Amino acid sequence: MNAPASSEPIASAQAPHPGVHCAVASPPRRAVSALCEVVQHRAVNDRYRLLTVAAPEAALLDAAPGQFFQLLCPGQGQGTHFLRRPMSVYRVVRDAGHLAFLYKVAGTGTQGLAGLAHGDRLDVFGPLGRGFRLQADWRHVVLVGRGVGLATLAPLAEAACAQGMAVTAVLSAARADYAMSVEHLRGVGAEVIVVTDEDGSADPARVEALLRDLVGRKGCDLIATCGSNRLLAIVRALCRASGIAGQVALEQQMACGIGMCLCCVKMFRGAAGVEPRRVCIDGPVFDVQETL
Ligand SMILES: Cc1cc2nc3c(=O)[nH]c(=O)nc-3n(C[C@H](O)[C@H](O)[C@H](O)COP(=O)(O)OP(=O)(O)OC[C@H]3O[C@@H](n4cnc5c(N)ncnc54)[C@H](O)[C@@H]3O)c2cc1C
Repeated sequence: MNAPASSEPIASAQAPHPGVHCAVASPPRRAVSALCEVVQHRAVNDRYRLLTVAAPEAALLDAAPGQFFQLLCPGQGQGTHFLRRPMSVYRVVRDAGHLAFLYKVAGTGTQGLAGLAHGDRLDVFGPLGRGFRLQADWRHVVLVGRGVGLATLAPLAEAACAQGMAVTAVLSAARADYAMSVEHLRGVGAEVIVVTDEDGSADPARVEALLRDLVGRKGCDLIATCGSNRLLAIVRALCRASGIAGQVALEQQMACGIGMCLCCVKMFRGAAGVEPRRVCIDGPVFDVQETL
């Protein structure tokens, strides 16, 4: 959805679509649409790219881990893609006014993004959605991410470490060099464990054993995950069995990002049974026990 290019706050749509019951009432939230100058854009490896833009203060103020922006990606020729592409907040540096996205080139939209050069402008709309929730008395947070899901979890590690919590990040990747943000995560104070398909350590049964051992030895208040349904299933079962809070950021395909088009509706387990929710506005972060 092409939002107007201004940095005026816009209240995200909150009203449920007629005929669809959405059990989670989202709090009023304000997103801004802004044309942002690209200040850095580089390849992290042959799969992932890091894009940093200069964003207005209003866009950065409330941007929280797990929230996302809708990016108006350049087209292959002239113009832009009609539908914006959702991208998680990877880093916010408020002093510098910088907003960063870590992304994988997946199709034509992200190919368009990859062509942006220093000084080009990108139309961003956000922050959108409900992010991760941290409780002040939590002491140890475990993050389990796969692939580009690590982009979504990295700011959570930063926030939890900044609040004095211990953070262990389990990064699952096809190859060790695809495990992104290792140095960034260590830099903010997280302990990082990399598991890969290459050496078999990313096998779900081995990751489950690793998590059980970690939780048993160190205790854990929250397990947060993103990027893999298999990891989600492991985290959900472990959290249920151990009484630990679990949160997942879902990367559901979406169109408008503000709750109107219903493109991202998924079924969840609610208090009154199975019910539909919009991932863009009721999430994208959900309690793992609500996922089906
Ligand atoms: C809330 C949210 C946060 C996200 N954060 C990031 C991020 O930080 N970094 C990142 O690299 N990607 C992220 N994604 C995924 C990203 O939005 C898609 O990769 C992107 O929209 C693909 O656009 P495209 O035009 O390049 O590819 P398309 O041509 O639209 O799609 C290429 C392939 O990717 C699949 N695809 C498209 N959109 C999604 C999606 N939302 N989820 C899963 N598969 C999809 C398509 O089915 C197709 O197979 C996020 C998605 C959501 C919903």
